[in-house]
Amino acid sequence: MQLKRWLSKLYLVSACLLGVNCRYDGDNNYNQRLFEYFEESLLYPVCPEVMGGLSIPRKPCEIVQAEDDLKVKDIDGNDKTKQFVQGAQKTLKIAELLNIKKAIFMERSPSCGVHKIYDGKFNNNLISGQGITTKLLEKNDIKVYSNNKLNKIKFN
Ligand code: SF4
Repeated sequence: MQLKRWLSKLYLVSACLLGVNCRYDGDNNYNQRLFEYFEESLLYPVCPEVMGGLSIPRKPCEIVQAEDDLKVKDIDGNDKTKQFVQGAQKTLKIAELLNIKKAIFMERSPSCGVHKIYDGKFNNNLISGQGITTKLLEKNDIKVYSNNKLNKIKFN
C-alpha cells in the first residue's frame, strides 16, 4: 500500500473507546462498533489526560471556565488546567508528526468531548461544548468525529 494511501486511513482515537482502561475511574468505553466500522482503517489510540500527566484512576475533572481564562478543575477544586493543556498539545504533536487529519473522540469528556461536555458544576448536566484536545485539534484543521456519530464519517 502506498504510504499516502496508508496515512489517509489513519485516525486518532480516544484510547478508552478501544478498551484501554484509561478513564478517570480506571474503566474504559470499549466500542465494538468502532472496530467493525473501521475494519479497513488504522486507529492510533491517544489518551490526552494520561499524556498530560494525570494518573489512573484520577478524580473526575470538568472545564469550569471555557472562554478566555481557561480553567479545568477536579471535583475537589484542584486546578488541573496545565495537565489538560499539555495532553492536548502532545496529542496535536502526534497528529502533526504522522500527518493525521481525522480523529474519533469520546463524547462528554473535558479532553475529548466533540459536541457535549459537562457544565463545570459536577452535577451531571451536559451543555454544548468541546473538550480541550478536540478544540485544539480542530483549530489545527484536524476533523474530530464523535463516537456517537460514526455514520457521519466520510471515507476517502
Ligand atoms: Fe478516554 Fe479521552 Fe478521557 Fe482519555 S481523556 S479517558 S481517551 S475520553
